[in-house]
Amino acid sequence: MKNITILGSTGSIGVSTLEIVAAHPDRFRVIALTAGKNLELLARQIRQFTPRIAVVACGEDVPRLKEMCTGLDCLILGGIEGLIAAATSEETETVVAAIVGAAGLVPTAAAIRAGKDIALANKETLVTAGHLFMEMIKEFDVQLYPVDSEHSAVFQSMEGHRSADIQRIILTASGGPFLNTPTAQLAHVTVRDALNHPNWSMGKKITIDSATMMNKGLEVIEARWLFDTPVEKIDVNIHPQSIIHSMVEYVDGCVIAQLGTPDMKAPIAYALAYPERIATGVKPLDLTSMSGLTFFAPDTDKFRCLALAYRAINAGESMPAVMNAANEIAVETFLDGRISFLQIAETIERTMQAHTPHPLQSIEEVLRVDQWGRIAAREICREIGVLK
Ligand code: NAD
Ligand code: MG
Repeated sequence: MKNITILGSTGSIGVSTLEIVAAHPDRFRVIALTAGKNLELLARQIRQFTPRIAVVACGEDVPRLKEMCTGLDCLILGGIEGLIAAATSEETETVVAAIVGAAGLVPTAAAIRAGKDIALANKETLVTAGHLFMEMIKEFDVQLYPVDSEHSAVFQSMEGHRSADIQRIILTASGGPFLNTPTAQLAHVTVRDALNHPNWSMGKKITIDSATMMNKGLEVIEARWLFDTPVEKIDVNIHPQSIIHSMVEYVDGCVIAQLGTPDMKAPIAYALAYPERIATGVKPLDLTSMSGLTFFAPDTDKFRCLALAYRAINAGESMPAVMNAANEIAVETFLDGRISFLQIAETIERTMQAHTPHPLQSIEEVLRVDQWGRIAAREICREIGVLK
């Protein structure tokens, strides 16, 4: 029996994680669940999974959640202290880090310091503070299992191989909803168009990141830290069918890939049950029914966010954290209808131009530069926005 905490249980990854847990009650027990704003769903999850602790991000929501859970034996907490209590709860062995954005940083760091293994979905933690997280993973001697499908694929393709023999990591990307949209038309695409991902069903922020291809940029940085690989050895291939989830090329010219129906339950289950493989309900692949698997290089002139992510990781130090903060604000502002799709990249680029990178020695310093990036990006959005 593995005891788990899910940070962000009401999100897309959180819900898929609970589906795996529900299918394997003999293997997993939920100790704590945390959510942002969706109290109704959290209350239903508390009834079904009977965690010891449940947490809402905003302390003001605690009384309402308590009322919704009257009679249930569950400690209900709120705010960052609550998130940390859930992440560090004594019984918990593995924390599924599935909060979206830099908001996941502090509770995930607390979990590592408390000696918990991490199943990591929250890529923004590694983008903003990769070197600090990887140092903490070593120092506190915990395991880090990737949940992101590409990184799970790379992890699986590395099993049994020496990292010294790796020549290249190839991350695949679907290309998102605008893969075949002419660049000139990108200026006019709507929020609804951008939320219409062809292959994956995900939270709104990552869906927009997929449309801009910032998601792949974040994943390049995530891979750089997870696999301790220089960025020059991490390539991106557009693969619109999303069947090969990523690949590793070795010095002998052999390439090992991981394939599957695009469904996050597969990488989540691998992260939770490693090194075992357990049933997920994911539809098996029928390669004979496919018309073909295609691959090509991404167009970084069209998808500027991908180029910006490479620029940020090459600049290093605090630049990826600033890029991430600007992206979070730009995506939020785009979703609110206050900037256009192409202004997402413009906001990020201008925020990065206004920043001189400096070393980050602690999570507190990361949070400070994250705040700086948010304020700068908000100001830029106000200046360039369509509804000033
Ligand atoms: P989501 O928006 O569906 O869910 C996010 C969860 O975090 C929700 O439970 C929400 O309530 C909670 N949350 C949001 N803001 C919070 C805050 N400030 N404080 C505390 N809790 C907060 O997002 P998602 O699609 O599940 O993605 C979660 C993470 O996993 C992201 O980092 C994303 O990049 C990564 N990821 C997602 C997928 C996917 O298929 N959805 C795939 C790979 C990686
Ligand atoms: Mg991914």
